[in-house]
Amino acid sequence: MFHVKQRCNRMEVLSNCPVCGHPFFSEFLKSKDYFLNKDEFTIVICKNCGLRFTNPRPDEREVLKYYESNEYISHNVQKQNLVNIIYRLVRTFAIRRKFLLVKRYCNGKTLLDIGCGTGEFIAYCSKKGFTTTGVEPNENARKFAVDSLHQNVKPESFFNEIYPGGFDIITLWHVLEHIHDLNGRMERIAALLKPSGTLIIAVPNSNSRDASYYQDFWAAYDLPRHLFHFTPDTLNKVAVKHGFIIKEILPLKFDAYYISLISEKYKYGHENYFRAILNGIKSNRSASKNEKNYSSLIYILKQAKE
Ligand SMILES: [Zn+2]
Repeated sequence: MFHVKQRCNRMEVLSNCPVCGHPFFSEFLKSKDYFLNKDEFTIVICKNCGLRFTNPRPDEREVLKYYESNEYISHNVQKQNLVNIIYRLVRTFAIRRKFLLVKRYCNGKTLLDIGCGTGEFIAYCSKKGFTTTGVEPNENARKFAVDSLHQNVKPESFFNEIYPGGFDIITLWHVLEHIHDLNGRMERIAALLKPSGTLIIAVPNSNSRDASYYQDFWAAYDLPRHLFHFTPDTLNKVAVKHGFIIKEILPLKFDAYYISLISEKYKYGHENYFRAILNGIKSNRSASKNEKNYSSLIYILKQAKE
């Protein structure tokens, strides 16, 4: 059983599972914020539905200090090290792939990208004829998207303002795992999406081979910024709870390499490109036998009532 601890008032303790409401959890893993300040956090696993989530966790205000790094603005950095160069190359390739997915699964051209960061993806979609809206809580990232890329990007207050049912496609690329009010946000997404619309959610997969290999050093735990550590099974439970069905699951194969590169650094204190690439290959090879084992997965969802 998970014992509720009293921490400083900026930490919040979840006493019920956000997905099934069950009150009993066991410890899944302890890990640190290797990215920033080495603070330690615990991931628990719900004894009923298997949801893995960070608990206790910084509340919505407190968590902002864990994003206070120039490097974290969607990793959109100027530093010219190999990891960042690879990251930017992959991002350029990934934007194109994301757009092709959107084109393949959408029934119309109004797109909402939640957690759009500095706006490169929606800028690409706009160029291709889509009417795009972005939502981004980080003020600097939002300002860049609006001022430099001339994108329509709103702060999170957007979710209280807009009328429901307006979007053909809603995307969350590595965003859902950061959202405190998981149920509130999913309800809002369901209302914002047209009945025939498509929801695309990409999240890390804590059941992947690279997650098992690196254990608490696995970079995609990214504590405490990642509040939820989904698997195909628990993501499906979230979907069903909010009236969605998963139509398809697709891999994000580059994540196995990128996450392995960062995990190597967390584990050994320095980069090891050879071992990271080897582990990326091993992760993808293991997942080729079972597609639910890729490092990160893209879920294509539709409203069940449609
Ligand atoms: Zn549960």
